[in-house]
Amino acid sequence: MPVLRLFLFFLSAGLAVAQPLVLTTNTILDDLVRRVGDSDVRVLCLIEPGVDPHAYEPKPADIRLMAKADIVVVNGLGLETWLGKLIANSGFHGVLVTASEGLSPLPAATDEATSANRRPDPHAWQDVRNVIRYVDNIRAALVKQSPEHAADFNARAAAFTRELEALQAYAVAQFATLPEAHRKLVTSHDALGYLARGYGLTIVPISGLSPDQEPDARQLARIITFIRRQHVPAVFIESTSNPKIPELIAREAGVAVAPSLYTDSLAAPGSPEASYPGMFRHNVDTIVRALR
Ligand SMILES: [Zn+2]
Repeated sequence: MPVLRLFLFFLSAGLAVAQPLVLTTNTILDDLVRRVGDSDVRVLCLIEPGVDPHAYEPKPADIRLMAKADIVVVNGLGLETWLGKLIANSGFHGVLVTASEGLSPLPAATDEATSANRRPDPHAWQDVRNVIRYVDNIRAALVKQSPEHAADFNARAAAFTRELEALQAYAVAQFATLPEAHRKLVTSHDALGYLARGYGLTIVPISGLSPDQEPDARQLARIITFIRRQHVPAVFIESTSNPKIPELIAREAGVAVAPSLYTDSLAAPGSPEASYPGMFRHNVDTIVRALR
């Protein structure tokens, strides 16, 4: 049906002109932009679900996409260390939006450098209240780009914010059911600092800020001793990092490995964890079940 195909081609080409192209740098941001922008924007994510966003290496296709993008939405707080080069190489001429703009960042918990040069912890989306700010920053950027759709962007952002406020209340209520002594999270990279601060948990990170940093024998022994002495019931693994070391620690300490947490990526489309609220709810439920 060449005529129909030609028609569809022109239809999609027409839509592509009408909708600004928004690129996102991780699946969480991608979901937030889709919720606010819906059919008024075209959203593409540079990173596939399940891929670690710290160690991402841009592909040639990413350079071509960046050159065409109207808006690039990044997390900021030092997450996208690979972005500067991509922007320079692509000749990107659109608007760069930092979703975490205006938040007060946590310092990275395991960074042992002096306080003067401590890096920020980029994982601010692990506190729902921060994501409410992300959504507002994204809304403001879309309104500026396409003021003709302002009422729709504002209405979707308001509805999504109400959903996030309900999610926040759910998380607070669930964590409140944990006995004080059980609120300890042993996990494979330092991604849950905001969750800990926001919901009253203590984090014992196995490795550093980035999943590729591995602990030495002395650090391993310290973590295993901690788990035994504090009667920590479970060790947590993450969907975007290698489970080998947490599994070893759990075995040595004689405790369970909890189901995988989603820290730096949503799940692939088709599962409840493919959306930010679904992912956060999964993490809350998994943590509360394992530590109860
Ligand atoms: Zn991370």
